[in-house]
Amino acid sequence: MILSTADIRWLIAAYTCGDVADEQMSALLMAIYFRGLDEPELQAWTAAMISSGERLDLSGLTAPTVDKHSTGGVGDKVSLILAPLVASCGAAVPQLSGRGLGHTGGTLDKLESIAGWRATLSNAEILALLAGTGCVICAAGEGLAPADRRLYALRDVTGTVESIPLIASSIMSKKIAEGTGALVLDVKVGSGAFMPDIAAARELACTMVDLGNAHGVRTSALLTRMDVPLGRAVGNAVEVEESVATLRGDGPADLVAVTLALAAEMLRLAGIDADPAAALADGRALRSYRAMIAAQGGDPDAPLPGARHTEVLMAESAGWLRGLDARGVGVAAWRLGAGRARKEDPVSAAAGIICLAKPGDRVEQGQPVLELRGDADDRFARAREALAGAIEIGPEPPEPTDPVLERIG
Ligand code: URA
Repeated sequence: MILSTADIRWLIAAYTCGDVADEQMSALLMAIYFRGLDEPELQAWTAAMISSGERLDLSGLTAPTVDKHSTGGVGDKVSLILAPLVASCGAAVPQLSGRGLGHTGGTLDKLESIAGWRATLSNAEILALLAGTGCVICAAGEGLAPADRRLYALRDVTGTVESIPLIASSIMSKKIAEGTGALVLDVKVGSGAFMPDIAAARELACTMVDLGNAHGVRTSALLTRMDVPLGRAVGNAVEVEESVATLRGDGPADLVAVTLALAAEMLRLAGIDADPAAALADGRALRSYRAMIAAQGGDPDAPLPGARHTEVLMAESAGWLRGLDARGVGVAAWRLGAGRARKEDPVSAAAGIICLAKPGDRVEQGQPVLELRGDADDRFARAREALAGAIEIGPEPPEPTDPVLERIG
């Protein structure tokens, strides 16, 4: 049966205000999970989710607005570097973000390891930051796409999260409601990502690009690799530290490559002719980052929390490091305390993993490959279990790979 636009509009509004019960919506979500939505149904579903709340009005800003959304990866701290970098090139970047759930971390959890930094801002504060420093990273307010909050919680408990139309409408309703004029999607592909294979990632990316463009948001996507953690740090405080090192010009090559590719794409969509590599190299992006952190109450010079316990995992043989499984490292960091199992759980700022070697490096037997950090020593055994088989060493170096696989849109 095809759902009409009027049916969908009524249903989403009635569910958001509690007139349709969870049991009834669960049955429909299950049907969508197995059957999908056709193009007009998906358009109507997304439009109804946007209309369930407010849409931020950023039209008073003089700079063009552009945002980025990542489908989530292990060690994915790109937002912390990218928002100030693109702002320092002349765009306004409204990064309304979420917290992490599961083995991929959340941008807000990372920034909350900075003393005093505030994730919750009023709409007036968001506008003032965009007009002043040019970028803001904060929690999406309760008023944006409230239907998604209820639907996402229900999908979580009914096993219906992994459906392309439901993921696409969930992500895009929030991003369109945020009011950005342009959007670049970083769709991660590989063991550490939502989408382990490229065909599914491509389909998700195309679906989201079409939805954005249909709602007047210039949208494109990059498919990027997530079979190995991005950069060397996985966790909260450790990822802030690596982001600042990158802004100082000392970032790992894969992280810099993904960040610059996304920055170039954002600037293209925003219609700005600037060189993001120059803004990273000459300190402009770092100045924007410091201004953004300070404007949200954070002290960019405050020492970050350190872990009480550390352990290392060593190479079992000599050879070339050929693989470092992103999912294994992500789950281990989560078990050490960097992530949460339920959305109300706290996270540890200090817990995480440092990749002391990355694929392509030569290692000797007994050489430390991973450093595990945590506040509680009883968490390390389960973290080590998640890392069984995660380190792959062989006689030949791996083929060099480009972290950016494809552009869509
Ligand atoms: N992130 C979202 O915001 N929604 C989804 O459905 C999946 C990931």
